[in-house]
Amino acid sequence: MRCPICGKNFSREDPKVALPFCSPRCKSIDMKRWLGEEYSLETIDLDKLEERIVGVDSPSNDSKDD
Ligand SMILES: [Zn+2]
Repeated sequence: MRCPICGKNFSREDPKVALPFCSPRCKSIDMKRWLGEEYSLETIDLDKLEERIVGVDSPSNDSKDD
């Protein structure tokens, strides 16, 4: 089998595998990825996204003044 996360070939008989992933690590990576998508679907708002696209003139958008 091939792991959908890291692309490594592995045997499904291996006791360390976490099907359909090659390892618990890849399984958790997939889960985080999935949760991350879910999270951004909730937070992305089309109007706000447009605002963001229009207001990209400031290079540091990850630091907020509060
Ligand atoms: Zn893997």
